[in-house]
Amino acid sequence: MTSPLNALSFKALFDAAADAMLLVDDAGQVVEANVAALQLLGYSEATICGLTVESLMPDRFRGHHQQYRDAFFKTPEKRSMGNGRDLFALSSSGKELAVDIGLSPIKVQNQLYTLITFYAADKRREAEQALRVSEERLQLAKQAASLGVFDLDPKKLVFHCDERMLELWGGKPDKPMSYDEFIAAINPEDRAARQIEFNRCLDPSGHGKYNMEYRITNPNDGIERWISSVGKMHFRNGEAVRFVGVARDITEHKIVEKNLQEQRAETELFYKQQIASHTASAIAHDLNQPLTAISAYSEVALHALSNANNNPDLLKRALEGCVVQAQRAGTSLHELIAFLQEGELVTERFDLNHTVQEALNITKGDGYSAFQPILKLEQHIPAVQANRIQVQKVLVNLLRNAVEAMRAERVANSTITVTVKTHKDMSMGHVTIQDCGPGVSQELVKRIFEPFFTTKPTGIGMGLAISRALIEANGGQLWLDPNNKTGAQFHFTLPFAA
Ligand code: ADP
Repeated sequence: MTSPLNALSFKALFDAAADAMLLVDDAGQVVEANVAALQLLGYSEATICGLTVESLMPDRFRGHHQQYRDAFFKTPEKRSMGNGRDLFALSSSGKELAVDIGLSPIKVQNQLYTLITFYAADKRREAEQALRVSEERLQLAKQAASLGVFDLDPKKLVFHCDERMLELWGGKPDKPMSYDEFIAAINPEDRAARQIEFNRCLDPSGHGKYNMEYRITNPNDGIERWISSVGKMHFRNGEAVRFVGVARDITEHKIVEKNLQEQRAETELFYKQQIASHTASAIAHDLNQPLTAISAYSEVALHALSNANNNPDLLKRALEGCVVQAQRAGTSLHELIAFLQEGELVTERFDLNHTVQEALNITKGDGYSAFQPILKLEQHIPAVQANRIQVQKVLVNLLRNAVEAMRAERVANSTITVTVKTHKDMSMGHVTIQDCGPGVSQELVKRIFEPFFTTKPTGIGMGLAISRALIEANGGQLWLDPNNKTGAQFHFTLPFAA
């Protein structure tokens, strides 16, 4: 079968090509230009033929061109021009066009020609430039965050890492670190946990995300450092093929965290001691009341017994009075001892919105259900770090107080608005409880947090003192807004989990 190419002339093929082409003789003069070249350079066929190639390039390239041309004709072979330099062609209107140039020698009747092909290079150069910029940015971000980068073949355990990781792990800059060396630096106590996290990432049904904190000891200086490492496992056909991640030195952060924890423990102890001393003085006063009442009731009972007109009703009432007062003293002591005996503060991460909901359910279930809650909860608020049960106790106590205040005032539409949001300093969760009761008068504002201060006939006056101590022991603050006009508005804050 004859090829259709046999029927095509060189000229027809030349003009059909999408790339711009020039045929140039050994003196560097254009002999032929295809349609794409005429369009690209803005010439007619008649005006371009006879021009030297130098006239089709910007001035600054012309000087050396003769030399390059001679070199090409000495060893003519197919190659690209410019040796990696950015090249430009000059159009008839003087516009510079970014191009890559290919050179192909062609021999016709013993005469050597060069076929010059122009490829538009703008897009490629832009993409290369964008890639360079993005790589530079990545490099800068990496340096700014002091990040080390690693890349592991999870099957063959071939490990690659950058200089920052080598520096942290105590490797030599010119010697690659092996996976065994990487593992050896990890504190033996943390190795098992790291391995579990790594194995979890190998599971193709999981998300492959890795997040771990562990200690390493640099064999050069013997210093222990805390590392936070984040990574991602990549899978192909359901098989883990590549594990890439970063490691960061978080030792300083850990030290600050530890100091804060110690400070928190000290503050907690301080507040407990303060409460204990306040309480010791207040307790004498508070027990005095029921004891005096018991003594008075007992006298009435004795009197009723010794009286000739024996009065069993009076005797019964006097003894009932004794029971109520003795129980009151007992409750007061019980609450206090329970609080003072609380053990070490165990904290956890939890969602404040959820705990507010739990506290509302407990309050309603405890017979304090005569109110309508209005919830204003910040969605996706970060988790706080505190003792969840203690925070729940505080919430229940504030909610009960609000219900009692509204009940005493016979408020018609009792509502309690609970707001959960990020505090303005951004590192705290902030809860506000607003009722529509009588509020707290200016004289009482200063006293309501004192132990045993109460305005209720059967109150103990320990709720707010204990609530404040609990929130402070958990790293937050509890206060009453003294300027609030409608009802009482209590606030507390808690630190967000790291
Ligand atoms: P108790 O509830 O046993 O009185 P608290 O320490 O919880 O003890 O409260 C102390 C006092 O603070 C209360 O007796 C009351 O006078 C005042 N108080 C607390 N919460 C509110 C409130 N929401 N509205 C008005 N007064 C309140």
